[in-house]
Amino acid sequence: MATACTLIPGDGIGPDITEATLAILEAAGASFDWDRQVAGAAGVEQKGTPMPDETIESIKRTRLALKGPLETPVGEGYRSVNVALRQTFDLYANVRPARDIVPGGRYDGVDIVLIRENTEGLYAGLEHYIRVGDDPQAAAESIALITRVGSDRVIRYAFEYALRHGRKKVTLVHKANILKYSQGLFRSVGQKIAKEYDGKVTYDERIVDACAMQLVIDPLKLDVIVTTNLFGDILSDLVSGLVGGLGMAPGANIGRDAAIFEAVHGTAPDIAGKGVANPSALLLAACLMLDHIGDRFRADRIRRAIESTIRGGEALTRDLGGTATTREFTEAVIKRLA
Ligand code: NAD
Repeated sequence: MATACTLIPGDGIGPDITEATLAILEAAGASFDWDRQVAGAAGVEQKGTPMPDETIESIKRTRLALKGPLETPVGEGYRSVNVALRQTFDLYANVRPARDIVPGGRYDGVDIVLIRENTEGLYAGLEHYIRVGDDPQAAAESIALITRVGSDRVIRYAFEYALRHGRKKVTLVHKANILKYSQGLFRSVGQKIAKEYDGKVTYDERIVDACAMQLVIDPLKLDVIVTTNLFGDILSDLVSGLVGGLGMAPGANIGRDAAIFEAVHGTAPDIAGKGVANPSALLLAACLMLDHIGDRFRADRIRRAIESTIRGGEALTRDLGGTATTREFTEAVIKRLA
């Protein structure tokens, strides 16, 4: 039976990479009942708002969305739709797998999944200025809010993810040596949950600065990483950089009531409408979505086809050093679906 899914093609290169992704999903036999919706600049253009109610209602109904990049104006204009979606659906876990597919990168064999707490920590939005004398902005305070419930759900998700995907180890990344209360709470929740998975998933811990160094020196030692919001934000781009940058990076935002899958890159305005964008990141996000709904078989099939197309070196898009168009890359992947 077809799975109902909200589809937001997005802005800039979004529509091109979305069509490529749909063609490959169909060729692989994945069956979705797409509910096409708009957001971002397309939402403003067609419905007068970057986040139309119909789009929210659709995601509430399907609980699943595949989303192209959305334009967010810097400074003026509407606030980030991505942040609004995260808040509306309480998408507490951001999942960023990084696996080296593009040959000639810094390392061979990197295969890391970084799971970032996505709703609290230093990004909880609890900030204010402090007046001293006649200076209303003499100081500023941002509160890093860590809760037991928030820590529990994301760390538990990381262990369940490890189990489901046959991974061996979860590394909790923290700074509890300095932030003894907030980071200490996150760490102690991790230690408690780790006991429940004893014998099934190995648990270890790293202090964030040491982890950053290890990621650069010896990334093959890391498997699944779970960490708080700010550290996750920084480390997830670091791991993308280890495997060839954002062009190949998919992301998943997991909540209790919905899950939204997307490419990590933006709308690429410099190449929009030229038919030369690389659709791999959105396609890999669609594979994460297939994993999420339990269709590992097709997800792996598509991942193998992307990998062999790229490793084969033909039909590479410009960002990967080739000259192929989005369409040529798409056809090459479809041919390689085994
Ligand atoms: P960007 O990721 O759009 O582009 C950075 C560079 O990478 C550009 O040179 C672009 O051509 C290239 N690139 C990106 N994706 C590519 C692809 N699939 N194939 C080939 N080349 C690719 O970043 P930016 O220019 O900083 O942002 C542009 C817009 O996208 C902004 O409005 C920003 O707010 C938005 N954005 C949205 C999301 C999202 O919706 N998740 C994420 C990041 C940025």
